[in-house]
Amino acid sequence: MLRKLPYGANYLSWAEVPELREAFEDKALFRYITSGESVSSRFERAVEERLGAGHALATHNGTQALRLALVGTRPAAGTPVHIPAVTFVAVAGSVLSCGLIPVPVDVDERFGLDASLLPPDAERVVVAHMEGMVGPLPEGVPYVIEDTAQAMGGRHRDGRHAGTVGWAGTFSFHHAKVLTSGEGGLLTARDQEDWVRLRSYSDHGSDRAHGQYPAWREGSFYGENLCSNEAVASVQLQQFRHLDEILASLERHYALAVEQLPGRPDMRVVPRTEGDVKVSVRVQFDSGELRDRALAALTDRGLPGWTLDRYFLPEHPVLKGRASIYSDGFPWNLDDGSERYRPLSRDGFAGTRDLLSRTLCIPLAPELDKAEQDTYAKELASVLTLL
Ligand SMILES: *Cc1c(COP(=O)(O)O)cnc(C)c1O
Repeated sequence: MLRKLPYGANYLSWAEVPELREAFEDKALFRYITSGESVSSRFERAVEERLGAGHALATHNGTQALRLALVGTRPAAGTPVHIPAVTFVAVAGSVLSCGLIPVPVDVDERFGLDASLLPPDAERVVVAHMEGMVGPLPEGVPYVIEDTAQAMGGRHRDGRHAGTVGWAGTFSFHHAKVLTSGEGGLLTARDQEDWVRLRSYSDHGSDRAHGQYPAWREGSFYGENLCSNEAVASVQLQQFRHLDEILASLERHYALAVEQLPGRPDMRVVPRTEGDVKVSVRVQFDSGELRDRALAALTDRGLPGWTLDRYFLPEHPVLKGRASIYSDGFPWNLDDGSERYRPLSRDGFAGTRDLLSRTLCIPLAPELDKAEQDTYAKELASVLTLL
């Protein structure tokens, strides 16, 4: 029987976390107090080298990485931030919790933000590479944040890694992602000066030297505490060492699954490009009714599957209700109804709503060996044939 979220947690192994033992023996789980180079820093270096990222910074989770990237653009309160209409609600939540207003932008057929809808003066755009599908980045926008929470290891068409091309990139190590430390995040920045500012914000606005109490200068801005933890970083480093193996196994499983899927005229596999992380097979049916039957049939057979319906932000309670924990409704109260806050879609999101209702995702399982993946692929094919 397959687990519902068959990603990185399966790679946890006591034998492979020498850094955790080291951190315990050093009696230092706080990254800025370790006797040698911290595990957090080693993990960041590994990411910089493997992904070709300018500068990496570990954070508590992907949402904090997004918040850090957003405040790092030094916005004015109430500034609009363009976000994909289809993505995890954390994207909208992180924008709002920075005092900014999320503006949903309709998506293309791969559910990536449709940059052709952006106004010419767009300044801050979050692009999310959903389900490992690496999408193009808008051109001429000063601050593009690449949310790579679901696409660690993916590549753009030119070969560069997802999350390293925009102004900043964000990653998640939550349980359901490609690699996991339960909770965990990472931010990448191309520019050294930006990285220094972001790191400072993540450590109370200080310039801290390793082993020292944080230091503030005249003019230091306030910050938060988003510092990484050595125990978590040890797990992340261990997971990260499996990245190539996981990507290769997902490729293999994807090929096996797609090859055996039935050629039904009422069903279409959404093609994945070479650089996509093959975390799932995404299928579009002719009708929502057929999609729902397919999901029920998979569930009956104990096979995993899910829809992306809950990612449709224009109808998400958090955006629709415009509620806030602040008593004055902040930051929604900064939306003065002007054009720049209006959601962007050619058809009021009708096409996307319809496409979502017909879409089904079947997760792939990197931890299975080839024979198991083949069995899974055959079972999947038989369920979809018999619909
Ligand atoms: C998971 C996820 C996040 C948030 O990451 P956490 O580590 O859970 O905070 C943000 N964006 C997308 C697209 C995600 O899938």
